Amino acid sequence: MKAAAEIVKVDLGEEFRVCPKCGYELGFHCSFLRADEGYRIILICPECGARYDAGWRM
Ligand SMILES: [Zn+2]
Repeated sequence: MKAAAEIVKVDLGEEFRVCPKCGYELGFHCSFLRADEGYRIILICPECGARYDAGWRM
């Protein structure tokens, strides 16, 4: 797994469950990345480590 994988912006659509990169079907882990306005909520594929940003902030 690459620790510094690029973060891909995604449109969740009806359901965002399958990793677009590797096809893993059982959903995502999440992490919280510090940003200017608080934190970005980043989805991480547990299979390949790909990172996705759905635009959520906290
Ligand atoms: Zn994946």
